[in-house]
Amino acid sequence: MIQTGFDLTRLNTLRLSARAEAFATFDTVSGLVNLLEAAQLRGWPVRVLGGGSNVLLAGDIAGLVVQSAMQSVQLLEQTEAFSRVAVDAGLNWHDWVCRSIAYGHGLENLALIPGTVGAAPVQNIGAYGAEVADVLEAVEGVQISTRQCRTLSAADCALAYRDSVFRHELAGDFIITRVLFRLPRAFAPDLSYGPLAQLREITPKALIEAVCQIRRSKLPDPQQIPNAGSFFKNPVVHAEQAATLQQRWPSLPCYTQADGQVKLAAGWLIEQAGWKGRWLGHARMHDQQALVLTTDGKARFADVERLRDAVIAAVQEQFAVLLEPEPQCF
Ligand code: FAD
Ligand code: NAP
Repeated sequence: MIQTGFDLTRLNTLRLSARAEAFATFDTVSGLVNLLEAAQLRGWPVRVLGGGSNVLLAGDIAGLVVQSAMQSVQLLEQTEAFSRVAVDAGLNWHDWVCRSIAYGHGLENLALIPGTVGAAPVQNIGAYGAEVADVLEAVEGVQISTRQCRTLSAADCALAYRDSVFRHELAGDFIITRVLFRLPRAFAPDLSYGPLAQLREITPKALIEAVCQIRRSKLPDPQQIPNAGSFFKNPVVHAEQAATLQQRWPSLPCYTQADGQVKLAAGWLIEQAGWKGRWLGHARMHDQQALVLTTDGKARFADVERLRDAVIAAVQEQFAVLLEPEPQCF
């Protein structure tokens, strides 16, 4: 059923207030195609929303917003080495991570990331040294412009650091309906990332619990404090620029990438620029993790924009590094 004038305030974790001209959920792929046809007849643009934990609502949305209500998990194939599992886009990501260990491994470090399975490939979600690209085999979905069902291989998805084809060539034109995972059955956890390094002889379930505990101790719960997670990507700069910066600021955290470029910790840059825990209007950079922009629940998009621009300008002025926001305007 299509609802008009639909309030999206509760459907985005920054709690920005906005209405969609029309809103509908779908529980089959053919139901989705019917919605796309109905939207075309009315001249409505179509957008897809998951859990709203990585979007910026800049105002009311013209057209139709759709959301997957499909939540099944299907084992496609199991060998001694791996399981291939197809998971519907509408399933909560953390619920899938908890269920995944019955099939195989590789998702434990990605526990408690908010949102849905369908959004995970969009920015190739990552945490604690793991990313969805490590175990993604393919993505199924419907292209909005053609209303054709398509399967994209991992290579087609062009997954990169917090990036994919869904943020470029297919931005706004592809609705993911199912994600196919290839999970190794052997548990070989990556515990190299700082806070996980002290864990020993851990079970998959205990690793999930440890990740949840670390995250809860540091990151604001969007149910209590509205936020969209990391508000900026960690900037990746040339090795020479990183060396120059590190000479001046020896404690600057730098992580050399496979291609020789260097990833800088954006949270550190923001803290040094004086924005950790500081309010501007109704928005504030979090006092425990300066990379997370939070609001008091009364913020409008203009408050978020003002703080975003102030932080970008301060970091640019002090370090000559340009921060790029992670959540995209919806
Ligand atoms: P939404 O916010 O609803 O949508 C995000 C984008 O994906 C939009 O452009 C939307 O149109 C598109 N999209 C959504 N569903 C689909 C679909 N089915 N098909 C095609 N496009 C779709 N991210 C990380 O990478 N690592 C983290 O550790 C992490 N931690 C976070 C912690 C907190 C407290 C919060 C609030 C956010 C965090 N995030 C993190 C960001 C966010 O959780 C992820 O980006 C997540 O994948 C967004 O899922 P969603 O369903 O909420 O997507
Ligand atoms: P953290 O441990 O305080 O580390 C700060 C930054 O340094 C991280 O962003 C991380 O980059 C980088 N880093 C730390 N150790 C690293 C290592 N061994 N190798 C490479 N890079 C390293 O980070 P945090 O804020 O508590 O977050 C923990 C994890 O959850 C991080 O992976 C982070 O990306 C993820 N997270 C993401 C979001 C989001 O919205 N995108 C929100 C919350 C948490 P990376 O970010 O590249 O890992």
